[in-house]
Amino acid sequence: MRPELLNPLFAEAETLKGVGPQVAKQLAKLGISRAVDLLFHLPTGAIERIRAPGASPVLLGRQVILDVTPTEVRQSRGRGPTRVHAVDGEGNMLTLAFFNNGGWAAKQLPLGEKRTVTGKLEAYGDEWQIIHPEVTEPGKAEPALKETVYPLTEGLTSRRLRDLVAASLTLAPVLPEWIEPSVLARHGWKDWRTALATVHAEPDEASARTRLAYDEIFANQLALQLLRQVSRRKKGVPLRGDGRLTQALKLPYSLTGAQRRVVDEIRGDMGQDVPMLRLLQGDVGSGKTLVALLAMLEAVEAGAQAAMLAPTEILARQHHATLLKQLDSLGIRVAILTGRDKGRVRDSTLMGLADGSIDILVGTHAIFQEKVAYRRLGLVVIDEQHRFGVSERLLLTSKAERPPHLLAMTATPIPRTLTLTQYGEMDVSKIDEMPPGRTPVETRVISEEKLAEVVEGLGRHVAAGGQAYWVCPLVAESETSDAAAAEDRAAALALRFPGQVGLVHGRMKGAEKDAVMAEFAANRLKILVATTVIEVGVDVPNAALMIIEGAERFGLAQLHQLRGRVGRGAAKSTCLLLRGGSLSETGRARLALMRETNDGFRIAEEDLRLRGPGEILGVRQSGEAQFRLANPEQVQELVPMATQDARLLLDRDGGLSGERGQAARLCLYLFERDQAVDLLRSG
Ligand code: ADP
Ligand code: MG
Repeated sequence: MRPELLNPLFAEAETLKGVGPQVAKQLAKLGISRAVDLLFHLPTGAIERIRAPGASPVLLGRQVILDVTPTEVRQSRGRGPTRVHAVDGEGNMLTLAFFNNGGWAAKQLPLGEKRTVTGKLEAYGDEWQIIHPEVTEPGKAEPALKETVYPLTEGLTSRRLRDLVAASLTLAPVLPEWIEPSVLARHGWKDWRTALATVHAEPDEASARTRLAYDEIFANQLALQLLRQVSRRKKGVPLRGDGRLTQALKLPYSLTGAQRRVVDEIRGDMGQDVPMLRLLQGDVGSGKTLVALLAMLEAVEAGAQAAMLAPTEILARQHHATLLKQLDSLGIRVAILTGRDKGRVRDSTLMGLADGSIDILVGTHAIFQEKVAYRRLGLVVIDEQHRFGVSERLLLTSKAERPPHLLAMTATPIPRTLTLTQYGEMDVSKIDEMPPGRTPVETRVISEEKLAEVVEGLGRHVAAGGQAYWVCPLVAESETSDAAAAEDRAAALALRFPGQVGLVHGRMKGAEKDAVMAEFAANRLKILVATTVIEVGVDVPNAALMIIEGAERFGLAQLHQLRGRVGRGAAKSTCLLLRGGSLSETGRARLALMRETNDGFRIAEEDLRLRGPGEILGVRQSGEAQFRLANPEQVQELVPMATQDARLLLDRDGGLSGERGQAARLCLYLFERDQAVDLLRSG
């Protein structure tokens, strides 16, 4: 339960004065639904204005405040703006242009009456112009000379947003300090409440911003450390296999050195009575599935059950099929459970899990539902971890009397600091070696203007018996987005390649998706148009060509994952990155990096270096961002410190008691790590 002290901050935004359903809807577009969201809606900067008697060349392009007298209104005709002509204090002619609210403008600017207008002074032909000025009556509410600028959305004025932020600031209580005193002193940071007020008043004050970023990172690190502490406090079941199954397993190849090493690390953990918490990192195609299989066999040899969690239905089915093939001769019972399995089959699976006759279960989130009871669950493998949050991990450990060993696998090549922010509670194993005999994927960056040539190339590829993926960024998600919709693309390609094009996207039903995937895997479909649902895990070795449309819109980690779908067979593979016309310097550099290297870890490190705070959106899209205050640089810089701070706090007090511990609890609630605090109580 959240402490009462913080309740006002978590009140719905609609309880604030001046927020009705209309404004609430606009706020929601900015991700703001409560007072606390307003507090954390940080300004991007400030504008400074100049009060002047009249327009003049030195003021061109600056924000100005002018007194003017309107002389004529020209209402918009068709799509043009409404123009109000006015004369300023020095007799200059000025045009005030309004593109969508002409009627309102005419009312605000009555002819012959003096008004104060505020905005950016521009030249329009040989006239002065201000587009969408703010209008006030002289003497009333003089516009400020310096004003904070916030990220806005249509219909919401910055003045309104500023007022709302100010209102939410009055709700922010003074809180006891949770940062280690020496850390605080070293940086000269102010207390939380003051830092918050400072950032909103002086957006360029770096120190206050850093402190807030630190708070957020600290809460995250503390939550992860708590998770580790609590999960390790409970005893697990030591599992030691006798080798009978792993030896009987027939593999067409031998393990790579890296696979052998991580398997040893995992076996070492599973043999202990402290539950394993291990993250297995390995680039796409490095052979993590086999490692997981060996770990599961170890558990089964020791008389326990193993469960493998996949992020999507497609992947769950694929893993299930692979396991069936590999384990059929070993006399092991493997089952699958997803949200789609119902009725008799499902009942029989539940029974087999409860009586222990099922050894290995593969599935989606459904495998951890309330009704699913295991006789002796000893190991949980989570494939493609990045689709699962800390909360899922919490659920796993907090429910069980004797928590199962946990092996999480990810191909997202994230840099070390980000590993700490996402998996700070885990030990890390890395597969840093690829199975032998792979030809690196050749990557090319091509302008979207050359689409026709790309389609011709695709035609030659298909005619030669090849298969290909065609990836689109969005499925008609918003009208404003000019992203090529996968549906349209599939339809267009189907005209050129009748009967050979399949389509999968996130809005399709699971069964539909699977059916299309199966057709593609069986080589009956030649081209698979898809959104990022094929991002993780899917394995069709004959598909040696991948075309990614709007490549600049993807996170690099995501591009790398996508590219990992090809280059799996003997044939040489190609990845074409189609880029739009207007590409920023950074955008160019990012795509060039993809062309240059196939090394996921290098891509991750460089990407972090390349994108400044201005490109946080890209981070969000790639699913890496979990912070709303801290930008990537701050994460880089502050994580090690916050990790240390959190560790010290827990070690010294053995929990969150004591004065600073209590304060830290508030910090956890403030950043909505409620589950971590609740865990303390249950653990
Ligand atoms: P990922 O790490 O992306 O999950 P997979 O486990 O799907 O990778 O493995 C990719 C491919 O490499 C599979 O076809 C698998 O059979 C093959 N593979 C795995 N380990 C080896 C190995 N030691 N030698 C040769 N091929 C291997
Ligand atoms: Mg995999």
